[in-house]
Amino acid sequence: MLSILHFKTLQHYSQLSHCFTTRYYERDITTAQGQEYFLKSYQSNQSNFILPKQVHGSKIQVIQDKDSLSNNKRDVADAIITNWKNIWIGVLVADCFPILMFEPVVNVIAIIHAGWRGIDQNIHLKTMQHLLEFMNCSIQHLLIGIGPGIGPCCFEVGKEVSDRFEKRSIISAQFVHHISEQKALVDLRGLITADLVMAGIPLENIEIMNYCTSCCTDLFYSYRKEGKTTGRMLLAARLNDV
Ligand SMILES: [Zn+2]
Repeated sequence: MLSILHFKTLQHYSQLSHCFTTRYYERDITTAQGQEYFLKSYQSNQSNFILPKQVHGSKIQVIQDKDSLSNNKRDVADAIITNWKNIWIGVLVADCFPILMFEPVVNVIAIIHAGWRGIDQNIHLKTMQHLLEFMNCSIQHLLIGIGPGIGPCCFEVGKEVSDRFEKRSIISAQFVHHISEQKALVDLRGLITADLVMAGIPLENIEIMNYCTSCCTDLFYSYRKEGKTTGRMLLAARLNDV
């Protein structure tokens, strides 16, 4: 079985390495040993690896110099941005959406952990905005990969959550599908994509791994389906010296 997936469109860039581990990854990626195994396979080590403390918020960690690398190693953040070479950045997920943003002209990458709470706080749009405003990225050049997450088939929510998405915006409301008075299904992947396209990202610049983690537990871990003790998957990226 596949232990690693890649975004097809992003694989052709020699200045970028990236991967998404599945449940068939050879080691438990949540452990220090598992992460060391992963980093070693790319001739890297823990001192060049940034994995934030994810809290379903909208804080962005920016790695731009040696200080930010050594001081903020396990900062609370749900998005990380860097233009530094040879630094792996990553997030762990199981149902939440992992997103990779890459600007191949100025060489900047971002990795985002986007669950419903983060999406509600616009983590995806805030990260994109930061890339455009502070990292010299161009909206025409930004390439985006959206990894596997819980699909509209399985992401059932109560009124509290569906109300929030219906009030959030007209676009957002279109991704809420009521199945009863109190229950609705929300298409988070569709919502992220629509938000990014509305913000100006060309649709052809977005690649989607179109799997539902909750339907496909033969390949992925699912928090919803399997409970909180299930494993996690890593989406990670690195800018290479070329
Ligand atoms: Zn599903």
